[in-house]
Amino acid sequence: MFFKVYNISDADANRSGRPMTVLPDSYRQTLRRLGRALRALVYPWHCLHCGARATHPTLPLCTDCLAALRRVPPGEPLRRLHRLPEAIGCFRAAYSLWYETPEGPFRPLHHALKYGNRPVYAQRLGRLLGETFRDELQTIDVVVPVPLHRRRFLERGYNQSAWLARGVGEVLGRPVAPELLVRVRATRSQTHLGRDARRANVARAFAAPYPERVAGRHVLLVDDLLTTGATAAWAAQALHEAHASGVTLLTLGLAA
Ligand SMILES: [Zn+2]
Repeated sequence: MFFKVYNISDADANRSGRPMTVLPDSYRQTLRRLGRALRALVYPWHCLHCGARATHPTLPLCTDCLAALRRVPPGEPLRRLHRLPEAIGCFRAAYSLWYETPEGPFRPLHHALKYGNRPVYAQRLGRLLGETFRDELQTIDVVVPVPLHRRRFLERGYNQSAWLARGVGEVLGRPVAPELLVRVRATRSQTHLGRDARRANVARAFAAPYPERVAGRHVLLVDDLLTTGATAAWAAQALHEAHASGVTLLTLGLAA
């Protein structure tokens, strides 16, 4: 079934000399779309943004789309965080790699990271994140991902930030300790919430259950996306309550 559909694409039709003109345009388009969807299922290493082949099996974007991702200038994540009163004084530094723009390749990348059930993408991107900011992160003692609530974790089966953190820890040669931070209450999905609703939603949502392992250490907090910064701020506050010597934030994306 799959190969039949695949063969009906224009390129293959020309090669085989099959007369494609007998099919109406809308029908051909539907078949082509179906073919792309099936191909993405069978060969997941096609680029999720442009569909090009030759993508690295552990990255969901091709080289061109990776290069097209917009880099976040230094200083921008901290400026974003400082718009929030609860984030002021929480972070020693903050780094984000790419802007999340509505049209660009970041959205499909992030979606694959979060819902694609492919933690290998997150780990690979975590390594990329660690390599990019290696010089800035030399004083880190331990890497801690922003946790999901247990219920969300069970629904999704993995925490994308934990896999990002694992990749970062590998590159930096620092321990990754997801158990040092937990969500003490379930929060609603932040996706469709405005700024104030997000702030209220995550207030006091985190706790550090092993304060003795946090005290006096410089913690690198890792998350997939920095939006308002409310989640990161409350996570950092829990680490400060456990007497971390400092908290630095590292995220893959910064919401544009
Ligand atoms: Zn691409």
